[in-house]
Amino acid sequence: MTDCIFCKIAAGEIPAEKLLENDDVVVFRDLNPQAPTHLLAIPRRHIATINDLQEQDAALFGKLFLAAKEVAALEGIADTGYRTVMNCGEGAGQTVFHIHLHILGGRAMGWPPG
Ligand code: 5GP
Ligand code: ZN
Repeated sequence: MTDCIFCKIAAGEIPAEKLLENDDVVVFRDLNPQAPTHLLAIPRRHIATINDLQEQDAALFGKLFLAAKEVAALEGIADTGYRTVMNCGEGAGQTVFHIHLHILGGRAMGWPPG
């Protein structure tokens, strides 16, 4: 998608602090962090929301979580704990319509989330 900010980050057309990149997934630091560690794991391929997922995306989704596990270890939050969140739709707080897994850690997390 030409006008998608996360497609542009994946393609290197917009700068971001990337922690992990492979053929399928990119992980970078959130511009407006809500915790000491706040990362976003995205698929390179544009998928707007969870509602747009297809059966063939199942493995790709697994790769997002494997990337989350890897960067959590890199950031030193694997043992202290971290929160993964994927908002779906405006009502849930989604503002960028290219799916992304938030990875938040480095502070205590409240429950339930707001
Ligand atoms: P959402 O609200 O859609 O779940 O999350 C979007 C996230 O993307 C927000 O946490 C926001 O700070 C982050 N974000 C938006 N634009 C950019 C950007 O250009 N670069 C980076 N690194 N993060 C962004
Ligand atoms: Zn996109």
